[in-house]
Amino acid sequence: MSLARRTPSDAHRALHDHAVAAQAHAYVPYSRFRVGAALQFADGSVVTGCNVENAAYSMAICAERTAVVRSIAEGRDITSVTAIAVAVDGAEGPPCGACRQMLVEFFPDAEIAFTTGGELGVAQVRDLLPAAFIPESLDA
Ligand code: ZN
Repeated sequence: MSLARRTPSDAHRALHDHAVAAQAHAYVPYSRFRVGAALQFADGSVVTGCNVENAAYSMAICAERTAVVRSIAEGRDITSVTAIAVAVDGAEGPPCGACRQMLVEFFPDAEIAFTTGGELGVAQVRDLLPAAFIPESLDA
């Protein structure tokens, strides 16, 4: 059963449209699997990201992490992200494990919209990575 059980709102669909637009910028000569991501900030602004591959395959970075890194580099308050949307061309587009770890670090309470079973579903970021290693984990 998918973790994305909730029906997307108009706001989720609008954010997903931003993610779809970001897919066009993906650099994916090897996989040809275009991914776009869009972060919704509390002030209403949106920051997008796309996946970027490399001939040294392990150097690739996902769309979700690109959007996070870009936001931080722009000086935004990454903890004020309220929602994230991920766009893929296929029927399944959940964030990978590395991205789940990156997202839960900054906005565990945000909603995340992604494609599952061919439909857009919504979950809470924290629910995608149970028992996550979080900043408080370092406080022993
Ligand atoms: Zn990823």
